[in-house]
Amino acid sequence: MTSNTICKFAWSGVTSTMVNTFRPCCRFPFDENNQYPTTDQVILYGKQAFNNNFLTDLRKDMLEGNKRRECEKCYIEEQSGIVSMRQKGNQSFISTTDTLEFDKLEFLEINIDNLCNLECRMCNSRFSTKLTVRDQLLNDHGLDEFLPSKVNYKTIEVMAALDLSDLKMIKLLGGEPLISPNLTQFLDRIPFPQNVDLLIITNATVIPSSKIIEQFKKFKSVRFDFSIDGIFEYNNYQRVGSDFDNCHSNANKLAEIFPNDHTVHSVYSSLNIFGLEKSTVWFLENSPFKNSIDVVSNNILSPFISPKWYADAILESISPSNPNKDYIHHLFENFHNYQESKWHKFLKFVSVTDNWYNTNIETINPMLKKELDKFKVNVS
Ligand code: SF4
Ligand code: SF4
Repeated sequence: MTSNTICKFAWSGVTSTMVNTFRPCCRFPFDENNQYPTTDQVILYGKQAFNNNFLTDLRKDMLEGNKRRECEKCYIEEQSGIVSMRQKGNQSFISTTDTLEFDKLEFLEINIDNLCNLECRMCNSRFSTKLTVRDQLLNDHGLDEFLPSKVNYKTIEVMAALDLSDLKMIKLLGGEPLISPNLTQFLDRIPFPQNVDLLIITNATVIPSSKIIEQFKKFKSVRFDFSIDGIFEYNNYQRVGSDFDNCHSNANKLAEIFPNDHTVHSVYSSLNIFGLEKSTVWFLENSPFKNSIDVVSNNILSPFISPKWYADAILESISPSNPNKDYIHHLFENFHNYQESKWHKFLKFVSVTDNWYNTNIETINPMLKKELDKFKVNVS
């Protein structure tokens, strides 16, 4: 086994996208070449849909020791001394990797639907019903990457087409899964919940009903990833509609009901990334939860498209003792690539959304406010 490229997610993992396709894990990018199996193919062919050309080639590359661009984040984590998602999967799954065929479905990551109660700035209407109007507004301002979308969810049909008896782990996302009317039906479909570790990605704005809590208790374990993007105003600015104190308090309540190794997962964009340093320290000193981080990489809010002076300021803001320092430095070394037109679109995005939500980026990022003022003068 070529231990540094093989990843059992490719033999046993299925992860939904919001355009009705499936990929091996959440790190695989948007399917620009229509290579991923579609929801309709999975409903028609079951697990055979995961033996298509793209996924067979991926497994072949992994077996031959060829590093894939899509897997870069795992390699960077490993290079930074962080146990990668690849390594975690290889430790957890029992599927064999001897052939090019998909083996057993052990890991399912699925969006139940896109019903959500928040309007996070880095998100879009594919994931949150609440963002349809904002996306239309952005689109009207020429930010056409925010085209309002409607996704036809077939999650329950997909579950019926697959053999779920080998499942070991489900990662459940939304929208906000804890407010979904489909949640009860979804949980009832799992044949052996006692064998399944259930990971729920939640924005921590609600505590579920007692009926849902009883359903959760049938699972082998329940773990939450609380999506909270930094402390106080850094979170509240980016995750429009959420309140840091309330979310952290809900997280504590859920952790009392389901004692486990829960995580606060923080996503940093060009908006809130100057809060990373303070937030890391706060979570270390004040929170019972681990704090994992990610950096937006797939849209104009990504700091990887920012000018060099901005990227340098970000790197300087992170202290040598910050446990995320090496990871952030490696990410910028590998992905930073200034794209002027996208950066200008981003500045426009900040201006339009600040008007729309009656907020001011200066409250969390004075440097960006100055840049925005210069941009507005130049444009006018
Ligand atoms: S190596 Fe990482 S990115 Fe690639 S399939 Fe595995 S978990 Fe996903
Ligand atoms: S909570 Fe999740 S789905 Fe809802 S708007 Fe925020 S990022 Fe999007």
